[in-house]
Amino acid sequence: MQHSENFDAVIVGAGFAGLYMLHRLRKLGFSARVLEAGSGVGGTWFWNRYPGARCDVESMEYSYQFSDSLQQEWEWSERYAGQPEILHYANHVADRFDLRRDIEFDTRVAAATFDEAAACWRIKTAEGAELTARYCIMATGCLSSANVPDLKGLDAFRGRWYHTGHWPHEGVDFSGLSVGVIGTGSSAIQSIPIMAEQAEQLYVFQRTPNYVVPARNAPLDHDIQQAIKADYAGLRQRAKQMRNGIQYPVNEASALEVTEDERRRQYEFRWARGGLSFLGSFADLLINKEANDTAGEFIRAKIRDVVSDPAAAATLSPQSIFGCKRLCIDTHYFETFNRPNVSLIDVNRAPVEGVARDGIMAGGKLYPVDAIVFATGFDAMTGTLRRIDIRGRGGRRLAEKWSEGPRTYLGLMVADFPNLFTITGPGSPSVLTNMLPSIEQHVEWIADCMLFSQERGRGCIEATPEAEDAWMVHVDEVASATLFPLANSWYVGANIPGKPRVFMPYIGGFPRYVETCNQIAAEGYTGFALT
Ligand code: FAD
Ligand code: NAP
Repeated sequence: MQHSENFDAVIVGAGFAGLYMLHRLRKLGFSARVLEAGSGVGGTWFWNRYPGARCDVESMEYSYQFSDSLQQEWEWSERYAGQPEILHYANHVADRFDLRRDIEFDTRVAAATFDEAAACWRIKTAEGAELTARYCIMATGCLSSANVPDLKGLDAFRGRWYHTGHWPHEGVDFSGLSVGVIGTGSSAIQSIPIMAEQAEQLYVFQRTPNYVVPARNAPLDHDIQQAIKADYAGLRQRAKQMRNGIQYPVNEASALEVTEDERRRQYEFRWARGGLSFLGSFADLLINKEANDTAGEFIRAKIRDVVSDPAAAATLSPQSIFGCKRLCIDTHYFETFNRPNVSLIDVNRAPVEGVARDGIMAGGKLYPVDAIVFATGFDAMTGTLRRIDIRGRGGRRLAEKWSEGPRTYLGLMVADFPNLFTITGPGSPSVLTNMLPSIEQHVEWIADCMLFSQERGRGCIEATPEAEDAWMVHVDEVASATLFPLANSWYVGANIPGKPRVFMPYIGGFPRYVETCNQIAAEGYTGFALT
């Protein structure tokens, strides 16, 4: 791509969002080009190749539904597919719908500037190309900017270091090595049991313990899969009625109204079933601290049952609010701490200070390691967008507009940034839901909105500042009615030093959100201006 090219839409990112956006726009007759920093499709599943990476939403639901033939023909091998299989699926989709011919790989968007006179976006890539497009659609992902802590001495470390979100494609062999893992979030919890089997010695540096429930992963029986496929539409419809877009039984009782026996029975049932359905144990777990404590205590008791060293069990036991950070699901995570080659290092009070030539320094002590794994997460929801120099009306920078926290209307558009859409942007349910249906809903809404604008012969559609303000008040109100903002999670940016503390996703629930979006569209895009 040497010269300037012009399209109806430029889509940034070729993960699940960018792929479907391209497909949808093509069908409607828009010309579109996808720009992708990586050398392949799949986004999250292209980059996160760490051992044990897999989805925590069941495969039958963590998949597209826009094409019934696609969902009927694809066969998942496990209850929760592993990263290679999900990446294979993304590649299959790209081939099946002939998407690659409109995707430019190894192309990182560095800047996007709205040209008011021409009513178009001028998009510049780090490689020096320039494109123009009426619409710019950010399909850049919520968890796509790796957070590597700024540790003194890392440059001088004699071994190799890795971030789970940028794992080498050829894999990493830890055999015979002493390895330090920093972080104990979802990525660490999936990878630690596998790395522990390979490494000679594994040091796990834990700042905050997490609530973890068993995944109960297993091969997915063909007959069960066929039975689900016989009523796939029914499953998808039921899932869409759930706050988080994932189908599982929800108990409407309060954790405080039932007897202790009933409470335990309910938790044991969910524990045995495995996965995120544990969140559906009781209706008030995420809004009432006393109810929440009962779930926390149940999980702490499970940790004490599994971890043989009482001191390690205590260190691994979270005291935080249950379920208000992303609930982790595991396969043999706690058992790993019974292995003689695994050491748990509590860096809560004595933080990781830096890296020496031969190891990690924490609490005044050197832990000798040959390799370091940063399982330290992402600058979530805003990091990737802020890294692109996005300028709207009057040259206003998005990063500056969001300096106190992200502001959007519906998580879809930003006032003063006409014709710029964000798929699963902050202010939408996104990361609190099964992301695939959330992505599909955004893609379809955006495509309809573009058609609406085009059919009226207007150059631009944009969120009004009043609609954005009102939406932000609502996003904040619904969050404040829950325990979520109290937890030091990446949902509030607590993992990134200096990031403003704002609860970023919309917690009003997927059904309510979809209804709002549909109503706004049906009423002629209330809160949006055609200019
Ligand atoms: P991504 O998959 O993040 O794709 C964004 C793409 O944009 C990337 O390929 C990136 O390279 C590209 N990009 C970014 N900036 C630029 C730029 N400036 N120029 C060019 N290209 C750019 N969600 C669930 O619902 N269930 C799960 O089980 C689940 N498991 C997960 C496991 C892991 C390890 C992680 C990290 C996330 C997980 N998620 C899960 C969330 C996951 O991110 C989404 O489900 C989904 O894959 C996001 O798709 P996306 O296309 O929106 O973004
Ligand atoms: P994460 O949940 O943000 O966890 C990062 C971990 O690193 C935390 O334990 C954090 O501690 C620690 N950490 C960060 N900086 C540190 C420092 N300077 N010193 C010591 N510890 C530090 O990141 P993640 O595990 O990559 O997961 C991110 C999200 O991706 C998940 O919440 C989930 O949505 C998605 N994901 C899903 C799956 C899945 O099961 N399908 C798997 C992986 C990821 P603190 O808690 O103290 O900040």
